Amino acid sequence: MRYISTRGAAPVLNFGEAMMTGLARDGGLYVPETVPVMMREDIAALAGLPYEDIAYRVMRPFLGDIFSDAEFRSLLTKAYANFGHTARAPLVQLGPNHFLLELFHGPTLAFKDFAMQLIGQMMQAALAKTGERITIVGATSGDTGSAAMEAFRGLANVDLFILYPHGRVSDVQRRQMTTPSEANVHALAMDGDFDDCQARVKDMFNDFAFRDGVRLAGVNSINWARVLAQVVYYFSSALSLGAPYREVSFTVPTGNFGDIFAGYIARKMGLPIAQLVIATNQNDILDRALKSGDYTTNGVKPSISPSMDIQVSSNFERALFDAYGRDGAAVAALMAELKSGGFHISQGALQMLRQTFTSGRCSEDETSATIARTYTETGEILCPHSAVGVKVAAEHLGTTPMITLATAHPAKFPDAVQAAMGTRPGLPPRMADLFDRPERVTRVTNDLGALQALIRERIAR
Ligand SMILES: *Cc1c(COP(=O)(O)O)cnc(C)c1O
Repeated sequence: MRYISTRGAAPVLNFGEAMMTGLARDGGLYVPETVPVMMREDIAALAGLPYEDIAYRVMRPFLGDIFSDAEFRSLLTKAYANFGHTARAPLVQLGPNHFLLELFHGPTLAFKDFAMQLIGQMMQAALAKTGERITIVGATSGDTGSAAMEAFRGLANVDLFILYPHGRVSDVQRRQMTTPSEANVHALAMDGDFDDCQARVKDMFNDFAFRDGVRLAGVNSINWARVLAQVVYYFSSALSLGAPYREVSFTVPTGNFGDIFAGYIARKMGLPIAQLVIATNQNDILDRALKSGDYTTNGVKPSISPSMDIQVSSNFERALFDAYGRDGAAVAALMAELKSGGFHISQGALQMLRQTFTSGRCSEDETSATIARTYTETGEILCPHSAVGVKVAAEHLGTTPMITLATAHPAKFPDAVQAAMGTRPGLPPRMADLFDRPERVTRVTNDLGALQALIRERIAR
């Protein structure tokens, strides 16, 4: 399988290369040249299988010959061994025809573990074959960083540096990043906000001498391997509700558009998905864009669902690429316009996007009210992100079963949950000692040269 850039001007890569590269050199995102379609009977044959077996069959065609079949199976086994639920992604029912897909049973209690645990195993296995080492640098507003730390700690051929905005992540998120004791993972608390952290990481990728010198790789949500790993739970959950003989719909709390784009790929592969509903918080650029055709940024308003507080939804570029008939030059032109504030989506592209996705937004008050109401009505405690999904899903219920993705465990956002429903959600027993473990973190300033020097020095050891 070959991977091409959404901006049409970067080398064509295989799966392993696309995974190691992350962002394409033309600034675009890698997508498969063609998406393999599964026959209806092949989808039906997945019913009842363990999660890892479904993952094997869904992902295998995308990987090419990077791993043998047996190797890939063993990587999947290792990736999901540390989950706190044997179903990995269990479904619970919230109401008539409304189901919640609990994606928070991984080691850091957010859905990002599904992709990060696997990409850690896949990168290490690929590097071990050649003996090469890489340096991964990522910026985080909380969940990506903790998931990456947990996935890469102790891996022999990888150094991981995570930049997070000092003082602006929750205590649980910070401790998940600062308590791993392995020497190859480094938590860096930077002065500034998340956008500053992300900007410094982008600077490092654009400094080709540095990028090549330290063998820089990225694991943020634009990495194709992460999107691919997330396709699997669309299959596993739909199968539980009768797919491929019955259609299902999904509502996805969305920030960078990675998770919902995985649903779009599942549909392209042949999974019968009726509606794919984008749920945004008050940072509603995607909902506005779908309704008006204008993709215009107007500043991030911090919310109680912080992992969805974004200005520019990176993975949306992949959907635009398809909506513009896979015209890389057209996408590159839109992204250039975005630098000065926004762009207008052409009529044809907008039509395609509206046929593919539906959308809704959820205010801060509605998020809190949904947490309280869902607890009273069902006993389920939602994190604020999942609550955004549940509220928007409720506006799209019909005769097709609706699956809302629950993206984090409520204990990861205890203040917002307590404010909404009065009680403080507790951590699962397997992480109850998180607040007793020693922390290890380096304070850094918002200075590219200093950051690069620190990274060079640490990896030289
Ligand atoms: C990352 C994250 C999201 C948003 O996911 P995207 O793939 O960026 O759309 C939603 N909820 C939680 C808890 C997250 O960590």
